[in-house]
Amino acid sequence: MIALYHSHPECTRFSAEVQGCEPVPGQENLYCVTLSDTAFYPTGGGQPCDLGTLDGCPVVDVTHEGDEAPILHFVRSERPLSGTVTGCIDVARRRDHTQQHSGQHLISHVLYERFKAYSLGLHIGREDAYVDLVDDGGFRLTREVCDDVEREINEWIARDEPVRCFFPTQQELAELPLRKKPDPHEALRIVCIGKEEAVACCGTHVRSTAQVQMVHILSWQQSHGNLRVFFVAGLRAVQYAALRIAQADAAAKLFSCNVADLAASVERLRVQGQEQARQLGEARKALVLGKLAAIEPEKCARGNLYIAVLNGADSAQLRDGISDVTRRDPMAVCFLAACAGEQFDAALGTGAQCGVHAGNALKAVLTALGGKGGGRPDSAFGRCARMDEDAVRTVLRSMMD
Ligand SMILES: [Zn+2]
Repeated sequence: MIALYHSHPECTRFSAEVQGCEPVPGQENLYCVTLSDTAFYPTGGGQPCDLGTLDGCPVVDVTHEGDEAPILHFVRSERPLSGTVTGCIDVARRRDHTQQHSGQHLISHVLYERFKAYSLGLHIGREDAYVDLVDDGGFRLTREVCDDVEREINEWIARDEPVRCFFPTQQELAELPLRKKPDPHEALRIVCIGKEEAVACCGTHVRSTAQVQMVHILSWQQSHGNLRVFFVAGLRAVQYAALRIAQADAAAKLFSCNVADLAASVERLRVQGQEQARQLGEARKALVLGKLAAIEPEKCARGNLYIAVLNGADSAQLRDGISDVTRRDPMAVCFLAACAGEQFDAALGTGAQCGVHAGNALKAVLTALGGKGGGRPDSAFGRCARMDEDAVRTVLRSMMD
């Protein structure tokens, strides 16, 4: 069988003889097809397989279980395929994978040259791709380092260095600048990029570095003791950049500034927002304190009852409010509430001399209002779905009269 994806990587339409076509057990209309030749790259080396059609029938998976094993094409078809068939590769998918894969070679080359960071493996996902690097602690990636690595890769792309894939003789192999010593018994396929980079690889590659178009390192993280570097290359990188350019332009328009000044404008707005939030917090606090000071207590047999709904207050202010009132009036039973979205926060505090248990009192009040809460003898907190001051008064007075 001839692997056309190696011998003729530009071939995306080919004819081949069907050598085997077996129904896949348990799968309706799915056949496992072997061919005399194929341009379908099978999943391997972190690169997903090619998809496409065989005689117009969708190829949904392509696998290869080793050098000696046949390449298996899984084809959706209502009848078995036979004779000579025409295979068509999904060109956009192949190009995308080729760009990610070749982009990874450039990242691996630059990181090895700079840090002797040896690449372990590649994974190409639907949105992004990653390469795992041996992390011996001898280097640290930062955004600045990655920007610089990208600049060097862009130089490679601009120089349009040729990419050559071949099966070298033992003599050629001995002269190649390979990072890893090859196994002399293995038939190695080598990819050379320019004169400096040579690595054993079975994936699909661009013909020259300009076809990689662009590489952008997205992020990096520790993974099982290695360093995992996420990236986009080729059209993915162009689309990634285009989306961000559009967003940056739109944001700059909202700020009436240049994109170059966008970060500074956002920072100014953030600081301004923080200051306004601080001022608003102080104003609300003063308002709540004013309302608290104005509550007229109701005299009861076992204490003085304070009830107020302080809309605009948060739970911390309710907490401060009950402690303020109960400190001022040791006979106080103070119930405060405030709207919190679709519910109400509630707090109840009792003064040292009033003899009412705050936790029990709030529990009784909130049960009447369809809520839940409780707490200590002197302070309790909870939430309820509705607020009714008369219902609160009735429950608390029944405990205090
Ligand atoms: Zn490769």
